[in-house]
This record gives sequence, structure tokens and C-alpha cells, in this order.
Amino acid sequence: MSPQIRRAFAYFFRACRLRCVECGTKPIFTPLLKIRSLRDYFAPLDGCPRCGYAYERETGYFLLAIWAINYGVGSLLGISLYFYLEWNYRLDLPVLLASVVLPVIGFNLFFVRHAKALFLALDHYFDPHLNDDGSNGGGGSGKQNPPPSPAPIVPQTAPVPSEPAALV
Ligand SMILES: [Zn+2]
Repeated sequence: MSPQIRRAFAYFFRACRLRCVECGTKPIFTPLLKIRSLRDYFAPLDGCPRCGYAYERETGYFLLAIWAINYGVGSLLGISLYFYLEWNYRLDLPVLLASVVLPVIGFNLFFVRHAKALFLALDHYFDPHLNDDGSNGGGGSGKQNPPPSPAPIVPQTAPVPSEPAALV
């Protein structure tokens, strides 16, 4: 097995165990028994206390984890569950919808931590940032050119239509 594939598997299994994707020893989130608020459940810790790996690189870093991984997997689960129930049982529509939507909501609440951890693993595999000194590719952090100034407004004087001569 090549080192890259071995590294990918290591990151994947560390993420499945909600462990730091870099060192694999410390947790990414507050342990369940120590949770005091919703934020403790949903938000990852600032970084790994052992290796210093920063879990959240920037504000909104985990948006893609939520929209793509968590909602994506939840949607696939919901679609699969819908077709399974539709083909095997004759359920009324409200019962069918409740049987699909409620488990998906529960799954997404359970899976949100894993979605973020898997996103961390993916990002660390494709774009590692061991020492976050601002030299991690730096896309988009350069100075931007000022927007071009708008073209000067030249007043246009339309010729005033002459009044037709009054007929006497
Ligand atoms: Zn670590």
C-alpha cells in the first residue's frame, strides 16, 4: 500500500473516531460527558492540545462540511428510506413523510460531528497546514486592487424642442 493511501486511511479512521486528524490521539470535540451547552456539542475545540493542529482555520470553515457532507449523507439516507418504505409498505403520506423526515433529522444531529471531522480529514489530506503561519497557499489573502473608479458622468443636454409656432 502506498504511503499516500495509508495516510488517507489513517486520516479517515481518525476522523471516524473524532480524533485529531494529524496525531490521532486527542479529541476534536468536547467529550459527550463534559458537554455543557449546544456549542460544546456542535463546535470543535480550538485545536489539538497535543500537536497544536488548528481545527477551524477560519470563520465559516465548516460550512462545506455541513452543506455537503452532513446534509448530503442525510439526504441520501432520506431518499433511500423513502423508496424502501414506499416499495415495501403501503403507508399514508403523512406517516410516510414522518417516517422519513424524523430519522433524517436525528441522523443529521448525530452525524454533524463526524461530518466536520471527515471534512477536516479531507482538507488535511489535500491541503495540509501543519504550521499555520499564513503560508498555507494563501489563496485570496493578497491585496486587492481598488475597484475601478466609475466613468465620469457627462451631462447630456438634449436639444429643447422648439414649440411649434402658434397659428394665428
Ligand atoms: Zn493532534
